[in-house]
Amino acid sequence: MEELLRRSEKLTTVGQLAAGVAHEIRNPLTTLRGFLQLQLETSKLNTRHVDLMLSELDRINLIVGEFLILAKPQATRFEVKDIRFTLGDVISLLDSQAHLCNVVFATEFGDGDCRIACEENQLKQVFINVLKNAMEAMPQGGQIAIAIHHQAGQVCVSITDEGVGIPEEKIAKLGDPFYTDKDAGTGLGIMVSQRIIQSHQGHFEIESKVGVGTTVLITLPLYKE
Ligand code: ADP
Ligand code: MG
Repeated sequence: MEELLRRSEKLTTVGQLAAGVAHEIRNPLTTLRGFLQLQLETSKLNTRHVDLMLSELDRINLIVGEFLILAKPQATRFEVKDIRFTLGDVISLLDSQAHLCNVVFATEFGDGDCRIACEENQLKQVFINVLKNAMEAMPQGGQIAIAIHHQAGQVCVSITDEGVGIPEEKIAKLGDPFYTDKDAGTGLGIMVSQRIIQSHQGHFEIESKVGVGTTVLITLPLYKE
């Protein structure tokens, strides 16, 4: 119950979120301004400076991009899709990258009706976020098991990696905006994913064991004619 409360508070603190975004964007902007000022005063901008400026710009772009997904009007373009194809598309998209990282996808898609009403691009975004996290958790490579099955009017998608895992005290923090332990991370992937699944009347859960791996469980209501 406490957890439910915490979560709903998290979702209503739009102001806090805005403050966080402003902060995250202001930092790279300050760097960019500093370099431009340097150029103006000394004309001594070198390749390293320009490289840094580019990566700061990329960072702003990444953060804004993640928020654009949330800003889209919701429930406007819901279509009926078989989630096996939606997830299959994402797996194909990530396949070459996975190959490069020594990661293999092991899929187990059950038979039967897996149609759901969804904004397909948003769901793809969720699967991309989760699969990328799984890959990033396995720097030496490994297997990601992806299963779809349905039960009692629900479709369950589980994505299990053999990565570093997440300590218990950190699990509660997942979904907080900007919570990341990666140098190039935004800490927005899980938050955005949770919100998208929520707008589809679904559930998003994470189970993990340090040194063993992590499972993300996504449950969505089956489409009813
Ligand atoms: P980012 O990937 O940019 O850090 P996310 O919101 O996607 O942001 O994830 C937040 C944090 O949750 C990650 O930095 C990482 O510490 C942890 N995490 C997420 N997924 C996994 C996973 N599959 N295995 C281990 N840690 C994970
Ligand atoms: Mg991520």
